[in-house]
Amino acid sequence: MALVREKDGRRLHVKSRLMGESLVSKTFMDSLTVAPQERLFPDVNVVKIGGQSICDRGAQALPAIVKEIAANAKKHKILLTTGGGTRSRHIYSIGLELGMPTGIIAKFGSSISEQNALLVATLLAPWGGIKIGHDDVTKLYTYFSQNCIPVMHGMPPYDYFALPAPKWRIPIHRTDVGTLIAADLIGAKSCIFVKDEKGLYTDDPKKTPRASFIPEISVKDLLAKNLDDLIIERPCLEILQASEVLDRIRIVNGREKGNLTKALAGKPVGTVIYKE
Ligand code: ADP
Ligand code: MG
Repeated sequence: MALVREKDGRRLHVKSRLMGESLVSKTFMDSLTVAPQERLFPDVNVVKIGGQSICDRGAQALPAIVKEIAANAKKHKILLTTGGGTRSRHIYSIGLELGMPTGIIAKFGSSISEQNALLVATLLAPWGGIKIGHDDVTKLYTYFSQNCIPVMHGMPPYDYFALPAPKWRIPIHRTDVGTLIAADLIGAKSCIFVKDEKGLYTDDPKKTPRASFIPEISVKDLLAKNLDDLIIERPCLEILQASEVLDRIRIVNGREKGNLTKALAGKPVGTVIYKE
């Protein structure tokens, strides 16, 4: 990039297409052509282990899923993320009662999802499970070359700067969002959410047993349905729609053996939400 001298001769600038722009102008943003997003780790599968849906079930759910992950890690590169679950909800409700701002509540959520990352990494340790921090995400191939299975907590690191949302003080970007953004960041092969239901239904099947199962749906159709409750955090839909490198996410029931194996092999299982 060329250096240019100001007219009065005193200051040097680096000439670039962004020079002098506010980076806010719609016309400018529309006119700017940029290189397509590089997929940094296109053969890595990002898999979220649900907090409430899996981790909180402890010995009833984790050993089986850990075994399935270990078996699959021989064939697939897997980056695991973890949710926070019931302990997050507990501290969120205390925080809300005491009038805590969104940023404090988000910080609580991060530390709990980190506990679950330690839990899962410890259980996976005999097969190479290793807890990593967000900063380590660019070192994935080094971990895989040493047969490690990296486990990272799923909360996006907005923490104190978590976006306050109207009428809602719990951060809207939690561990589903963090997982999806991580998958977008690395240009992952797949992004799989391991939870405790078959996938997406027209309503929460725990509260509405007659809700019907949706095996596949586009983001646009799902947004248009305006469902009251969802199996993933709502902002995931727009993030997926905006992604340059991901075209789908999958939600599977991790309480049934074999579902994650199928998902990693790209076989039909659970619900696929795809971008149009
Ligand atoms: P995680 O532990 O992975 O964060 P959550 O417990 O937050 O998972 O979300 C998964 C739960 O969402 C399911 O167990 C289910 O009870 C509930 N849920 C709410 N709405 C739906 C829906 N439309 N379809 C399926 N599950 C739903
Ligand atoms: Mg959740």
